[in-house]
Amino acid sequence: MADNSVTSGSGSQPGLTPLDVALRLACEQVPVSDLIETRELTECHGAILREDVIAAINVPSVDNSAMDGYALRMADLALLPQTGALTLPVAGVALAGHPFIDEIPTGRVVRIATGAAIPHGADAVIIQENVAASADESEIRIERAVIERVRQGDNIRRAGEDVKQGTVLLPAGKRLRPQDVAVAAGQGRAHLVVARPLRVAVFSTGDELAAPGGELPPGGIYDSNRFAMIGMMRAIGCDVTDLGLLRDDFAVLQAALSEAADNHDVILTSGGVSVGKADLLKPVVDSLGSIEAWKLAIKPGKPLMRGRIGDCLVLGLPGNPVSVMVSGLLYAVPLLLHMMGARIEDRAIVRFPMPAGFNLKRRTGRREWLRARLHRNGNGQMVALPFHSSSSGVLSSMVWAEGLIELAEDRAGVQQGEIVDYIPFAGLQAF
Ligand code: AMP
Ligand code: MG
Repeated sequence: MADNSVTSGSGSQPGLTPLDVALRLACEQVPVSDLIETRELTECHGAILREDVIAAINVPSVDNSAMDGYALRMADLALLPQTGALTLPVAGVALAGHPFIDEIPTGRVVRIATGAAIPHGADAVIIQENVAASADESEIRIERAVIERVRQGDNIRRAGEDVKQGTVLLPAGKRLRPQDVAVAAGQGRAHLVVARPLRVAVFSTGDELAAPGGELPPGGIYDSNRFAMIGMMRAIGCDVTDLGLLRDDFAVLQAALSEAADNHDVILTSGGVSVGKADLLKPVVDSLGSIEAWKLAIKPGKPLMRGRIGDCLVLGLPGNPVSVMVSGLLYAVPLLLHMMGARIEDRAIVRFPMPAGFNLKRRTGRREWLRARLHRNGNGQMVALPFHSSSSGVLSSMVWAEGLIELAEDRAGVQQGEIVDYIPFAGLQAF
């Protein structure tokens, strides 16, 4: 059973805000964007719907056949002689898109294809496999045993059986999946009102970083975080500006953030939000706007910062690559979906209770996510297993993993066989 409930953040380390509280506050303080657009249906996949889609028509619009066969009047089957079978002439043909216009004549049948409108007067369809047609298809013979099984309405799809005119088919705030867009198409809609993509500026900070494609200086590392951030933002339909790499320099950061804030809804950064000498992001945001939240009771990702420059939201993710992904997926993504008007169901995290395949002792006070996989043990039971290292610098753990094990703030350990919450990556909104 998936559990979408928001778990409590009780037992958090003093001075650190539990994730649920931080996210609730952020959703209260950051308004839903009023920027919406009317978009062509083919471009709507993955977008946040910003109107209720109400069924304008019944689907199907008329009674039609669910099978290839023969439409008939039930009353005519009473003509069956005491023994043997009934032979009925075929009055015509009804195909999908080519209805049999007239009322079905008494004592006759109409050959009918799947999806064709039921001719007036007919109240059942017998499938073609259950009758014998003459060589010239002018009549059919129905055996007694078949006739005895026919019921009123057999193989007829009723008008409005799928969708009833006037019902809310898709509620505002729904994140549109292929079937959602398809059902709108079934209503004849060529356009939908959806959230305009948020304009998100992304950059990495750090003097040790080199851009992929360039030379790696001794002791340097390639910037990987920017690509994780860009991917997560694109996965939820944001319009990303890649602002590259920035040095740990107050004036450089200040100029870049100030300019980006002018023409973006969100600035997303990695690194420089901790308490080291080179951690300049906080003072820079403070100089241009305000810091609204800092430090969450989460592991990894603790130093996460939320601020504002004018109307632009600033999210400073920590530098460690796993922290970037975890805080990005569990905080930044739900918050940005909220800004685009997503319903709570469409930004919730899906958790599955699974037995643990491991033992663990840990310090309480922060909610923790272990990179994890499901594994079938010797007894054929599925268990959740963590990666061998819990370091937040090991990005390859995210590549190995297929999900996360979530440990509540007050959980001091895990014994093999105990239940833990497992979050498949596929249950996160940016995958
Ligand atoms: P910071 O939060 O800036 O102190 O960074 C924490 C750790 O993450 C340091 O070891 C950094 O080298 C590493 N790091 C920071 N930014 C990136 C990045 N863009 N890509 C890969 N690693 C990074
Ligand atoms: Mg740094």
